[in-house]
Amino acid sequence: MNLIKYENMWIPKSDEELKVDIKQKEKTARYCGLLIFFLIPVFELVQNKFFGTQAYRGASFGLTLTWVQIFNMMPGMLFISCISGILFYLALRKYNINTTQLCPKCGKLKRFNKVENCECGGKFRLLNELKWIDNNEPEQ
Ligand SMILES: [Zn+2]
Repeated sequence: MNLIKYENMWIPKSDEELKVDIKQKEKTARYCGLLIFFLIPVFELVQNKFFGTQAYRGASFGLTLTWVQIFNMMPGMLFISCISGILFYLALRKYNINTTQLCPKCGKLKRFNKVENCECGGKFRLLNELKWIDNNEPEQ
């Protein structure tokens, strides 16, 4: 009699799974921050050396810098890219939040707002706090 049939459905993630999600988000933020940190000096170097400092202002030719000039610019450049990388990292960590909400009962999706109750009688939850369970997959 006790044959439980698990249906395709959304269930809340466990605390462990939520922690894994947070770690993943941290990792992405760190990766993007580092990418910014490295890309800014590389971009500036290529720009100043091969295209010139005026090129981006619409001049047809630019004033390219020598390696010595570029070398002298590097401390300031690294400072800027360091700050940019950190800001990018902090912003991503704080604001990279999925605000999509889902009703686990009927599967309706919506943007995050004050409405908590779905028309079907279910309650909306943040999508990233839920996971999909396939048919008859045993619960852990
Ligand atoms: Zn619903």
